[in-house]
Amino acid sequence: MATQGPRPLVAGNWKMNGTSAMLKEPRLLAGMLKDVKLKCEVIVCPPATLIRKVKSILKGTKIKLGGQDCHAAASGAHTGDISAEMLKDAGCTAVIVGHSERRANHGETDAQVAAKAAAAHRAGLVAIVCIGETLEERKAGKTLEVVSRQLKGSLPEGAASANTVIAYEPVWAIGTGQTVTPKQASETHQFIRQRLSDLFGPSTAAFVKVLYGGSITSENVSPFVAEPQVDGLLVGGASLDFEEFSEIVKCTALRRS
Ligand code: PEP
Repeated sequence: MATQGPRPLVAGNWKMNGTSAMLKEPRLLAGMLKDVKLKCEVIVCPPATLIRKVKSILKGTKIKLGGQDCHAAASGAHTGDISAEMLKDAGCTAVIVGHSERRANHGETDAQVAAKAAAAHRAGLVAIVCIGETLEERKAGKTLEVVSRQLKGSLPEGAASANTVIAYEPVWAIGTGQTVTPKQASETHQFIRQRLSDLFGPSTAAFVKVLYGGSITSENVSPFVAEPQVDGLLVGGASLDFEEFSEIVKCTALRRS
């Protein structure tokens, strides 16, 4: 099946890193990414405390902002949580949901992830829905079974290419320096696209972006983004080094040049 959207997407997940002291760096990031122009969509997902500051620093650039998680409700008695509407209000266009660190550290289920993705859609945000197998599941040959179950359970009704991105992130590859091979990523992405077709129809499946995530660096990025089934990347650790992140974005943009 042909790859979808015209532009690849690179999203940077800063996780729980960064204070104001780091914010001279986004200017550097914006400057370095100037040349990439429209060839690659870029979203940075800082911690919630920095969203507004990063937004104002990146003003006038094409770089978009995302949240790292949201609550399913729009507002209410949920101390410490942030709603999709609040992220939208702060200037985000997207939010990551179902990251494996949320699933592992906060016991988030597929149903909760689907509710968060639905909240993102309600607020007018793109939901970047993360799925991926653990090492045990992979060793047991259950990768496709797990990915299939997570896809079915974590995507709400109404998921479409305009409001949903899938990030395939093998849990064992996140922050470990280990990756699947580009070919393995491509095969899993092809399977994901087939399952999306079963669930939402072929036209949605053809256009939903499927990102790879897990220990991507400027050193290993090229063969991943050369795979036609890989529509871009979700980058964790390497997104904190803006020169490194910029290189990753440039390599990804080059794929379309
Ligand atoms: C992530 O947090 O989504 C991620 C892919 O992290 P890393 O790039 O550090 O493996």
